[in-house]
Amino acid sequence: MEKKNMGFLPNREKLVKELTPQVKEDLKNYFQDRDYGVIAITREDALRAFVVKATNLCEIARLRHKLSPMATAVLGRALIGAILLTSLLKHGTDQRVLLRIEGDGPIGLVVAEANAKGEVRGFVQNPNVPTFVKEESGKKKFDIGKAVGKGTLTVVKDLGFGTPYESSVPLVSGEIAQDIAYYLLKSEQIPSAVAIGVLVGETGKVEAAGGFLAQPLPGASEEAIEKLEENVKSLPPVSTLIKEGKRPEDIAELLFKGFTTELLALKELSFRCKCSKELARGGLIAMPEEELEKLIEEGQASVKCNFCGEEYVFTKEELQEIMEEKRKGNN
Ligand SMILES: [Zn+2]
Repeated sequence: MEKKNMGFLPNREKLVKELTPQVKEDLKNYFQDRDYGVIAITREDALRAFVVKATNLCEIARLRHKLSPMATAVLGRALIGAILLTSLLKHGTDQRVLLRIEGDGPIGLVVAEANAKGEVRGFVQNPNVPTFVKEESGKKKFDIGKAVGKGTLTVVKDLGFGTPYESSVPLVSGEIAQDIAYYLLKSEQIPSAVAIGVLVGETGKVEAAGGFLAQPLPGASEEAIEKLEENVKSLPPVSTLIKEGKRPEDIAELLFKGFTTELLALKELSFRCKCSKELARGGLIAMPEEELEKLIEEGQASVKCNFCGEEYVFTKEELQEIMEEKRKGNN
């Protein structure tokens, strides 16, 4: 990831920039095809939107976890959902939000975790879940709700001090975007419009993925809220917009039609996991001695990270070292 800060880009919350054609051109040149999000506000009223393009990171998740098309659609939505929920965190910090969807559908547990820096990771329990299709206004669509089933959505916010804050709501549709909107309303008292779309092609590849969270801020006028609702309703699916080449800032403008759109912050997004061989080693040290002994007998062990699918292989020698360390630690 490029770390350099471009002079024309707004720096965190400090700078608000009008979304002029020149700024749009600069954004395009800077981000090109990479995934990113924009946080935008309206100049004339108190509306806010976080709009993201996440095509690449959803495709990386698919390849890493060898996801079926249906599993790709579900995990992609959850990853984007977790990214949108970073709106609840302090921008640019190490704060994290974990989204856990526990339904009785065939996909099983769905988990996605994102931090305020725009790094996201996640997994589904059943990566091979078959495709369920439903028809909506004459169009065939993934039946996300059928794969997820009935159950609960839990959000865990780790703000970096004390016990993480955890709250659950029942799943209202299993379609994830609506469920997140319901969570925001019930648990955070934030009325919001949430849309998430993941377009999976014939070959299973992710062709377009993204989403938005739009909300009135305290002090927003009734007219502005109505206008926002109207704009949201008239918008085509977000994955369609991204497939057409619309960028997050373009979608922010569509959401804020009738207002002047201003940029508050930008966030580069990536699929990234914090796992390492060192962490995997820690897991082995924590194992009961008999189990570790068994692995040594087998001659090697491989520890797979749930979140990203990475496998860490330990040789017999490494396992013996771990055993020695463990025995020393126990005495
Ligand atoms: Zn990992």
